[in-house]
Amino acid sequence: MQLYNTLTKRKEEFVPLEEGKVKMYVCGPTVYNLIHIGNARPMMVFDTVRRYFMYKGYEVNYVSNFTDVDDKIIKAANEEGVEPSVISERYIEECKKDMASLNVMPATTHPKATEEIDGMLSMIQTLIDKGYAYVAEDGTVYYSTRKFKDYGKLSHKNLDDLQGGMRTLLVSGEDQKEDPLDFVLWKPKKEGEPYWESPWCKGRPGWHIECSVMSRKYLGEEIDIHAGGEDLIFPHHENEIAQSEAANGKPFAKYWMHNAFLNIDNKKMSKSLGNFFTVRDILEKYDAQVLRFFMLSAHYRSQLNFSADLMEAAKNSLERILTAADRVKDIADKATAMEATEEEKKLIEEADRYRIKFEEAMDDDFNTADAIAAIFELVKFLNTNVNEGSTKIFASLMYAQLGALLAILGIKIQRKKELLDADIEKLIEERQAARKEKNFARADEIRDELLKKGIILEDTREGVKWKRA
Ligand code: AMP
Ligand code: ZN
Repeated sequence: MQLYNTLTKRKEEFVPLEEGKVKMYVCGPTVYNLIHIGNARPMMVFDTVRRYFMYKGYEVNYVSNFTDVDDKIIKAANEEGVEPSVISERYIEECKKDMASLNVMPATTHPKATEEIDGMLSMIQTLIDKGYAYVAEDGTVYYSTRKFKDYGKLSHKNLDDLQGGMRTLLVSGEDQKEDPLDFVLWKPKKEGEPYWESPWCKGRPGWHIECSVMSRKYLGEEIDIHAGGEDLIFPHHENEIAQSEAANGKPFAKYWMHNAFLNIDNKKMSKSLGNFFTVRDILEKYDAQVLRFFMLSAHYRSQLNFSADLMEAAKNSLERILTAADRVKDIADKATAMEATEEEKKLIEEADRYRIKFEEAMDDDFNTADAIAAIFELVKFLNTNVNEGSTKIFASLMYAQLGALLAILGIKIQRKKELLDADIEKLIEERQAARKEKNFARADEIRDELLKKGIILEDTREGVKWKRA
């Protein structure tokens, strides 16, 4: 299995630290509002990476954090007049609901920054003791970037280039830094902010330290894969490396994986630019599987532009696959002949070609775009070779084959029976149109179709109302 390592800028063979095991850390969201579909890209991409490792027989220990102490959370809490924890707890719950809708498996552990303060205090103390960090007069603890010889190795930048850029970026209130490149490990509390006791001042952690600490606590000092969106390469991941490697005296992560951005109108989708759709916005219009299929239709290191046209295309492509699956299932359910024919035995071997193609694509740095192409070839094969005369064993095997490949992408072969609100309303409109044209047969047919799916229509004076049974 080859994967692209940001650290070495090339594809490398995956060799786990411990045979049969993958230790993986994925930086999670800052929880101050609903996640947008840009945030959902790393969730779905690295969930797929995890599923593929599992399919290959690895035991995956997958850790993903929630950043639950941060300026933006405090600001949102002040605006609502509640404690920051009310905001963070609310959006952790909402984020978990979105992950479940998108079929993203819960992490083995989902640590929260506020519950790991002791570990952070201890790592910061180690960094001070080893001479990598210093305490400024106001109690702020800074990491002394120039002390860490490898600083810049992940983002492939040298310190002097970085320093040129940083001079203008001096953050207000951080004027006690010895060097503009130094970054905060611990900072003094401000009025109205949550804080913790520490040897240096009452305060709270800087952002980067939490990941170094949680990764060590839940996965150990050295891990296989550390991942996140490409905007995290610098400074977040660069700083994590500086902290972890200086504190532990060992390499931190063997492979660094970064997904490219999800754009909209060819601009990065982000909360600060205000050009985003939440996962909820999209799930009002589309089935969650369509969003997942859209997201995986591009390689994770390629930028992906979000548009209604591409979502429609994803919807149609997925529909083609699931319709083929429904047909094969139907044939398997109805067929009685158990023993596969000689011809079918040959076809079973032939069908395996598509599994191999799928695996080859995934083994090549998780190329989901090519893996989906292999699924389409399998679908074409099934459309041609599974038919009314097929035996039960053959049709069932073919259905299982397709289901197993889709499951690696986190797509369920069996459609959700439930209709989306938008679909229901479309059918009601169609029924109204049919009635206007006095096509009562069609109108009744739509009513029965909805009823079968548990949707009850009520004709009232104010129009048609509906409810789920
Ligand atoms: P944040 O809550 O901003 O820290 O983001 C959580 C995760 O989402 C990080 O891994 C980011 O890199 C990633 N992310 C944020 N916006 C996008 C985007 N538009 N496309 C892809 N990944 C994103
Ligand atoms: Zn992180």
